Amino acid sequence: MNRLRAVVFDVDGTLVDSERDGHRVAFNAAFEEFGLPDHWDVETYGRLIRIAGGAQRLTAWFEANGRTHEESVALARRVHRRKTEIMRELVQTPISVELPAPGEACSTELRSEHGQIGPRPGVIALLDRLTAAGVPMHVATTGTRAWVAPLLDRVFGDRFDIVITGSEVTDLKPDPTVYREVIRRIGDSDGVVVVEDSGNGVRAAVGAGLPVLVTANPYTRDDDFTGATLVTDGFDDPRLVEWFDHRLGNRLGR
Ligand SMILES: [Mg+2]
Repeated sequence: MNRLRAVVFDVDGTLVDSERDGHRVAFNAAFEEFGLPDHWDVETYGRLIRIAGGAQRLTAWFEANGRTHEESVALARRVHRRKTEIMRELVQTPISVELPAPGEACSTELRSEHGQIGPRPGVIALLDRLTAAGVPMHVATTGTRAWVAPLLDRVFGDRFDIVITGSEVTDLKPDPTVYREVIRRIGDSDGVVVVEDSGNGVRAAVGAGLPVLVTANPYTRDDDFTGATLVTDGFDDPRLVEWFDHRLGNRLGR
């Protein structure tokens, strides 16, 4: 690809550290409200994260812990509905402790403790470069619109043009539908590149015929990224910076 015409970002684990600091916290709060003994620590959640979709993740967990399939599906549906509400509250509620503004460094411990979800390191710098270069930015996520929209709004303002969430498509990643829908809205896949953090996300994008740059995180580092154009450790990774340098030019302060 020579000319960069649009960048499509995944949300969970890519733009924001939402898995550990957001979803995990919300799932545990929902378990507690339902009087369930279940609790997902960071390590357990790291294993469960391979299962895409919150309700599916809950169903698998309940089944693995002795409930019948029918019981698990029914309970997962109820817990997931409440978890989504909690997630929505979590991304909207201003917290009482003072945290750095979005884009500034913030210790993950501090964020995690308060369920505060912020941008991953280096994300804001890249979005600023793309904005300055006039490259449109879009979002393709399997998250629910109820929490995705307020989260993007709070952390990133109105930078994204097209935002397709799990509420608009029936099949979640690794199914490519969400990316096909973005391409349909853009009108053309030429010069479009995807940024993802997980193997499921890579499969979805590759399935839609799009090149994918991976910004892995500790949860996804060992995923299978077959088909990805470039695999990096995050937005500060020199390989990713260089990839964009090459397409945007070096003129913006680098
Ligand atoms: Mg992700």
